[in-house]
Amino acid sequence: MKKELTCIGCPIGCQMEVTIEDGECREVSGHSCRRGESYARQECLHPARMVTASILIPDRILPLSVRTDRPFPKERIGECLEEIRKIKPQLPVKVGDVLLPNILETGINIIATRNYS
Ligand code: SF4
Repeated sequence: MKKELTCIGCPIGCQMEVTIEDGECREVSGHSCRRGESYARQECLHPARMVTASILIPDRILPLSVRTDRPFPKERIGECLEEIRKIKPQLPVKVGDVLLPNILETGINIIATRNYS
């Protein structure tokens, strides 16, 4: 099976083609650097994305913005967002504070992306 991908590693956006056989990534073509090849292999077998979200704070107008500290498995992003919605942060919060460690036992943390007091 062949799959076409656009690399998101830099603005060049190389068009790549990946050959997948027996659940393994056999060949990557079209990339201009190793970063593209790594992305293609990860994207085909274990796609992941940074997750960003906003948490509503009671009696406040501005929400608190948060994100994962590493790319999160794409197929579980819905579950991730459900867990994020349950966070009730203790204010004040500083940028980079871990608000939810090891979300869904992935080893990935949810962190604040701004100061909030
Ligand atoms: S393969 Fe390399 S040069 Fe091409 S888009 Fe990806 S990061 Fe950029």
